[in-house]
Amino acid sequence: MKIAVLSGKGGTGKTTVSNNLAINIKNTILIDTDVEEPNSHIFLKPDIEKIDSVFIGYPEVDMNKCNLCGKCGEFCRFNAIIPAKNSVVVFNESCHDCGGCAMVCPTNAITYKQREIGKIYSGKTKYDIDMKYGEINIGEMSGVRIIEEVKEKIKNEEIVIIDSPPGTACSTVAAVEGVDYAILVSEPTPFGVSDMKMVVEMLREMNIPFGLVINKAKLGDDEIYEYANNENIEILAEIPFNKEIAKLYANGELFSIHLKEYKEIFENIYSQILSKL
Ligand code: SF4
Ligand code: SF4
Repeated sequence: MKIAVLSGKGGTGKTTVSNNLAINIKNTILIDTDVEEPNSHIFLKPDIEKIDSVFIGYPEVDMNKCNLCGKCGEFCRFNAIIPAKNSVVVFNESCHDCGGCAMVCPTNAITYKQREIGKIYSGKTKYDIDMKYGEINIGEMSGVRIIEEVKEKIKNEEIVIIDSPPGTACSTVAAVEGVDYAILVSEPTPFGVSDMKMVVEMLREMNIPFGLVINKAKLGDDEIYEYANNENIEILAEIPFNKEIAKLYANGELFSIHLKEYKEIFENIYSQILSKL
C-alpha cells in the first residue's frame, strides 16, 4: 500500500506528518521524493547502506550526418535541442530523455549519452524502518527520473509512505502517481488554503482518494475548515500549534516519540485510511 503525503507549498509540516506517521506504523518504508530539498533523513537519521546514481540520456548530434533539417528542434517541447545555422545546439540540463528527437531525425544523426543527475540513498533508520531518499544534483532541471527510480526500488508488499514534493509540478505528479491514498497537509492560513486548492484539483483529476491534516491548528482563521466542509474533504487530524513540538522540530526530532500523547494522532490517521481502502 502506498500513501503519499503532500502539500500546496513547502513548510506546512508535510515531512513532520509523513515521518511521524511512518514510525507509528509497523513494517513501513518511507521514501522522500522531495528531491530538490529532501529533509526526512534529518529526522529519521538513517544509516546509509547504499548509494545509487541516477542517470539520464541526452542527445549528441553527429554533424557529419546532420543536414540541419530542423525536425529535432520542432519536436522538442523543452527547447533542449535547437538547430541553428551551422550546427545543432543541445542544452543537456533541459533534456527529459524522451527519445523523440532521435526518432524524428531523418539521417540518424542523433545518439544518446548518459549523465548523472542525482543519487538515491538507502538505509535503515534508528526507528527500525527503512528509508530511501533521492537528491538531485545542483543545476539539474527535473527530478522526475530520480522519483521514478526511487519508487521502482519498492516492493509491492511494503507499506510505503511517500514524502512528496510540494505543489502540482511534474515531480509531484510523478511522486503521487499510483498511490492508494494521499494525505494533504495544510495550515489554517489564507495562503495555505489557496495553495491547497490546486493540489485538491490535481488529486481529483488523478482519481486519488485523499484527506486533510491541519497542522498548527487553531493558529489562523476558519477558512480552511469552511473550504474542507464546502468541498466535502475529510479532516483526518489536527495537529495543534505547540511550542514543544516546534522545539523538537528545530532540534531534528520527531515529536510523537517524545510526546507520547500525540502518538495516537498518527495511529488514528492510519486506521482511518485503512477503513477507506
Ligand atoms: S530527447 Fe526529448 S527532451 Fe531531449 S532533446 Fe530530444 S526531444 Fe528534447
Ligand atoms: S533532425 Fe537530425 S538532421 Fe535534422 S537538424 Fe536535427 S539532428 Fe540534424
